[in-house]
This record gives sequence, C-alpha cells and structure tokens, in this order.
Amino acid sequence: MKMLIGGEWADSSSGEACEVRNPANGKLLDTVPLGSTEDVKRAIDSARGALGKWSSMTARERGKILFKGAQIVRERQMDLAITLTMEQGKPLKEARDEIQGFANILEYYTGVSAAIHDSLVPVAPGRYGAVMKRPIGICGAIIPWNVPAIIMGWKVGPALLTGNALVLKPATATPLTNLSLAAILCEAGLPAGTLNVVTGQGSTVGEEIVRNPAIRKISFTGSIDTGKHVMKVAAESMKRLTLELGGSDPMIVCDDADMKKAVEGAVSGRFYNCGQTCTAVKRLYVFESIADTYIKMLKASIEGLKVGNGMDEGVNMGPMNSAGQRDKIIRQVDTVREKGEGKIIVGGGVPPGERYVGGHFYMPTLVTDVSEDSVLLREEVFGPVLPVVVVKDLDEAISRANASKFGLGSSIWTKSLERASIASSRLESGITWVNQHVKLPPEMPFGGVKESGIGRENGFETLDAYYELKSVMINL
Ligand code: NAD
Ligand code: MN
Repeated sequence: MKMLIGGEWADSSSGEACEVRNPANGKLLDTVPLGSTEDVKRAIDSARGALGKWSSMTARERGKILFKGAQIVRERQMDLAITLTMEQGKPLKEARDEIQGFANILEYYTGVSAAIHDSLVPVAPGRYGAVMKRPIGICGAIIPWNVPAIIMGWKVGPALLTGNALVLKPATATPLTNLSLAAILCEAGLPAGTLNVVTGQGSTVGEEIVRNPAIRKISFTGSIDTGKHVMKVAAESMKRLTLELGGSDPMIVCDDADMKKAVEGAVSGRFYNCGQTCTAVKRLYVFESIADTYIKMLKASIEGLKVGNGMDEGVNMGPMNSAGQRDKIIRQVDTVREKGEGKIIVGGGVPPGERYVGGHFYMPTLVTDVSEDSVLLREEVFGPVLPVVVVKDLDEAISRANASKFGLGSSIWTKSLERASIASSRLESGITWVNQHVKLPPEMPFGGVKESGIGRENGFETLDAYYELKSVMINL
C-alpha cells in the first residue's frame, strides 16, 4: 500500500519502502513507503489546508461522516480482520472484535456529537462571557502495533469530532489496517487532508511529528521510554500531550472468588493477543488458602491453549508480533531461570514443531513462586508469561500491587462488596475491574496513573483534550 496524504495515495519522497511481514510465518505481505521528514511536512501542509473547512462544520455534521465510516467498516469487517491478523498475528476472532471495536468508538462519538456546545455565562447585568470550544488545530497521533485499530479509534474519533486535522503514524509492523481504515474514512466523506497517514520509522516520521511546531497536540500510545522522549521533544513547542504508556496490571484473586471465572479471566486476560496488551493481566496475586487449587486449575487451562497461525480454526493464541518482542520475553524468562526467581510450571520457551518454524511463537507460560524482586514483577512483560504470587490477605495483595511504577489497570476477584470497594479505592491505577479484566467500552475514560501515562482516552471527558477553551467577553 501507499501512504495517505491530502486524500491521495502517495509515495515517500525518499523513494524507499519498508516490508510488512506475517509474524506467523515470516512471509512478505506488502510494502509501504518509508516516510521521511519531508513527507511529514507535506502531510502537515495538507492538514493545514483542510482545517478551515473541517473546523467550521458543526460537530453533528462531522459526527455523521464518522458514522458513515463506521458503517463501511462494519460492511468490510471480514477483510479488515484478515488484514489485521496477517500483519499483527492475533487470532481472526480477536481481529474481528477489534475491527468492530473501532466502529463502536466512532459510533459512540457520533452519538455524543449533538451534546457538544459552547456556553454563555452572565457575568454582570447586560454583560456576558462566551466559553467557546475551539479545535486545537493539527494534531499528531502515534500508534503501536499491538491493538492498532482500536487505538486509532481512540485518537481519530475524538480528534476529528472536535474539528481537528490529523497526521497519524502507524507502527512499522502494522501499517496496513491503519491505512485501510483511514481510506474508508476518506471514502465516507472526510475532506481531503483532514486525516493523513505517514508510514515509516519512529526515529524519522515519529520524531518530526513530535518536533514540528505546526503540530499543536500529540496523542501517543507506546512504551514508557518512548513516551518520556516524546514528552521532552514536545516540550520545545509546548504541545498538548496525551500519553498512553506501558502497564503491569495486577489481578487479585481473593479466597471468596468464583474460581472458575477467575481462571478464565486470568487466562484470557493474560494470553489474549499473545500477551501483548497494555492492560493484560501481568501480575497475579492469589490468597494463600486457595492458592494450590487455583494454580492447579490455572495450569490445566493454560495447557489447553492451542497455539498457531491466527488464521487457523481453533487457535487461541497466535505468534508474537516480531522477533524483537519475542527476544525480550526469552530474555525475561531466561533471567528467571538463571537467577532462580521463580518456578516455570508451564511453557517457558519456543514451541517445538514444524508448524512453528518461521513464526515468532512462544509457549503460554506459567511461573509460580515468583520472588519479589523478579524481572517479571518489575518490568512490563509484553508476551504470554503469567507470574503468580501467593499473598496472605487483601492488605498484602494491595500493597504489593501498588509497589510498582506502573498504574494502568488492575482487577479484584471477589464476591464481597466491601473488598471490591476497598480495592477500587486503594489500587493505584486508571481503571479497576471487579470480577473481569481488560474490557474497555468507549463510554469509559481510560488511561494511566504514575508512569503509565498522562490524560485519558475514551468517554465524553476525552473531548476536552482536543479543545482549547476560548473565553469571549461581550459588553452589550
Ligand atoms: P514503542 O514505544 O516502541 O512504539 C510506539 C510508536 O512510537 C510506534 O509507532 C513507533 O514507531 C513510535 N516511535 C518510536 N520512536 C519514536 C520517536 N522517537 N518519536 C516518535 N515516535 C516514535 O511501543 P510499542 O512497542 O509499539 O508498543 C508497546 C507498548 O505500548 C507497551 O509498553 C504497551 O503497554 C504500550 N501500550 C499502551 C497502551 C495504553 O493505552 N496505555 C495501549 C497499547 C500499548
Ligand atoms: Mn517497541
């Protein structure tokens, strides 16, 4: 595919291209232009050209275009899901859910569009102040490879509804779904230049989006290290920032939990998307009195997972997205082995067998008796490895859960309303689930505390992050 600048398919000024490969077998799927600094500048020019018309439409008119886009996405969901599975690796069913999730987000923002309005404040007899919501202008959106369609929705939905124009950079591994979705929005009636997609590397395309003073806001999703760098560079031109960064979500299983549901929740919460989800279950704390039984059930369930190409029927877990991501997991599990930081009771390596050759597969892995200073509890584990820690009570579970620089999500599994409310108020995270994990409906604001990020996406509240408030004083 090509990139999308000013509503047209475009090549890079560099003339170079980069490959997109299938993580399940290493086969070449397609190429996209290797974008340059020049290409970002072209995208900014076309965004600037589109801004006047787009921002002068009403939110309701813009919402209708998003809705039309969502309809086309739903009609083509199967083709889009196949593209997503082929470039990202996740099982086809997960890919289809993700494509529908993108449409859900756009429909949500269409739904709230009629509720957006400026306000008039009487300040003295005959005097009024108008509080106007003005679009920020040209915004930059930077997307990771793990959930590229949903994350694109989180950024594009609110940014476009509020009248901003966008320059979006997909991850190098997963540009095809993002490009296809952007082309659909153009087809649905977005004015040319409102949404531009520049493919290429973080160190060139990403860097220019964050540096260029014409871009007034960045919404970035990715790792904490890159997020910190983005924040520094963006400070030079005082950009507004939304940063959705890494997580290491704790899941607490109390002695009164529904064990079967808590097993299913841990397995889907950890191994969904091959463990490569920001809000995956990354640390599991279980009460001592039920630990043996619970771990036995967990082990059996994990051993039942079928690993393979996401396009194959019955596969529960696809490959990891890249060799680099798998290398990180191999290093983390090797560290556990070498330093005796835990007992690997399921998995712990690359699956053997002909069908896995050429793909970035890793076995679903369960580690128990994890020491407090283990790499699995300190670092983000972005792959299919679940560390389990036994605790004596809720107090210990919460304090261990909070002993982390991360603060994205968390969950508690209990039938006690009291325990649920204690955990919901004390766990340091942007979201706490009770008897579930991972679900992020578009109505609910989502984001991290501590080093997991700044700002929120989803929900009505997120619209505020795409406006500048302008006060106008009127003297009649
Ligand atoms: P990453 O930080 O490596 O890359 C994210 C994006 O930033 C990519 O598009 C990349 O090309 C770009 N980038 C790299 N260097 C850049 C630079 N110097 N300037 C501008 N852009 C640059 O992250 P990743 O490996 O793609 O994604 C995985 C991480 O994302 C995990 O830590 C995960 O937890 C996190 N994540 C967070 C959320 C959330 O909502 N909080 C959601 C999904 C993923
Ligand atoms: Mn990365």
